[in-house]
Amino acid sequence: MDKKTCKTCWRSLPLGKYRKNKQSKDGLEYSCRECMKIEDKVYRTIHREAIEANHKKHRDAHREERRAASYIYYHTHRGAKNENV
Ligand SMILES: [Zn+2]
Repeated sequence: MDKKTCKTCWRSLPLGKYRKNKQSKDGLEYSCRECMKIEDKVYRTIHREAIEANHKKHRDAHREERRAASYIYYHTHRGAKNENV
């Protein structure tokens, strides 16, 4: 079975241990699945604050939009309910 050396842990692992990556030369990630998993975790931990801040920004930006949407929803549905009564 073909093997590939992980660029993070330097272990020689079977190709099945690597995620696919169309952008890389051999079509696989440079790091093994295990390392990618750890990297993802580390990335998320490090960037959690930034990601959360981004989400908050996004929420704030759309708050007015959503309020308007729920206002319309509420009024259209209330109107529909009244028609049924
Ligand atoms: Zn690895």
